[in-house]
Amino acid sequence: MFKESEKEFSFETELLKQGAYIRELAANPETAPIYLTTAFNVEDLDDLQARYDVKGFCYNRNRNPNRSTLIELMTYLEKGENSIICSSGMAAISTAVLSIVKQGDHILSDQTLYGETIDIFSKVLSGYGVDVTYVDFTDLDQVKAAVKENTKILYTETVSNPMITVVDIDAVADIAHANDAVLIVDNTFMTPVAFRPIEHGADLTVNSLTKFANGHSDAVCGALTGRADLIQKAYNLQVLLGTSADAFTSWLVQRGMRTMSLRVEKQMSNAAKLAKALEESPYVLKVNHPSLESHPQHELAKNLFKDTYGGMLSFVLPDNKEKINKFMRKLNLAHYAMTLGGYRTTISHPVMSSHYDIPEEERLKMGITYGLLRISVGIENADDLVEDFLQALEAFAE
Ligand SMILES: *Cc1c(COP(=O)(O)O)cnc(C)c1O
Repeated sequence: MFKESEKEFSFETELLKQGAYIRELAANPETAPIYLTTAFNVEDLDDLQARYDVKGFCYNRNRNPNRSTLIELMTYLEKGENSIICSSGMAAISTAVLSIVKQGDHILSDQTLYGETIDIFSKVLSGYGVDVTYVDFTDLDQVKAAVKENTKILYTETVSNPMITVVDIDAVADIAHANDAVLIVDNTFMTPVAFRPIEHGADLTVNSLTKFANGHSDAVCGALTGRADLIQKAYNLQVLLGTSADAFTSWLVQRGMRTMSLRVEKQMSNAAKLAKALEESPYVLKVNHPSLESHPQHELAKNLFKDTYGGMLSFVLPDNKEKINKFMRKLNLAHYAMTLGGYRTTISHPVMSSHYDIPEEERLKMGITYGLLRISVGIENADDLVEDFLQALEAFAE
């Protein structure tokens, strides 16, 4: 414990010293305060050693109480052994991957990842001599055939963006472990409320807490959770790279996450209702949501997600820019936004955003047509939401 000096100094020195510490017992506030401090005072070298021994607080890039409480929460939710909290989902992904691979190693990845994750693999890691192969992870034969001797990581998302296909995590984990590789699963779209990849064999799971977890579209943050030995390596690298989240963001995200199960459950049930209504609309060509029997992995999703199919869906309209624009302008509730997972329903147009740089031929192979719209479903009243989409779809009647 740090002891204060009782000696009284001059006015200007006391200006720095007075009121520096909380004297009363302040250990159990109803909600955690924000620890906006870069460092913690240490009494002597024994105190310093004691802090090292118990992983106590010294410097903010290494540890901060707001990150520590969020680590405890995330580790519980994803059923891992430990976690790190990062400045963004991308920071969690890059820290994880860089802590595992070295020059000459190979990563086997699903072909439809979040765009920037593909950029980390293809534009950054390739420059460091790390090789990446992309295959369709919904086809296990393709995955098996693409594993190499030097494959260190199998990487996938629980459900893909924007086609919302579902990967058999247990089967992919078996393939990874038969080759002594690590399976990393990005669980951002499902969240641990609906699905926990570690319970299905994943070694590490990534969450962009920016999205459904925080849910309020006001903070960028990420988490990596999983096996203790892998998290220790990722933590050691995080301290060097400085990818840790700051105290205020960690506090804000933890506050948002307290209502996560209420929000995400409503979002998922709204998504299933909206998917059904859109599928029945004469103006909609196709709807992609795992709750629908028409979805290619509906049975797998039923087994994995137990009747909770996620808050993300996409649907196909005719490739008619004028009418799509009119439809977008007619929507009262869902607004266009370059993010997802917030409490309000948002839409995005993959061809003009996440898949803007992908050559037409390649994106058509993935099923991404000009008329494809992606929806992140919010917590509005389900009937309000469905009615609003249906009235806006009348743009295609004329
Ligand atoms: C947004 C997102 C990320 C990246 O998260 P940031 O917090 O924006 O860095 C990674 N994966 C998925 C699936 C995402 O949706």
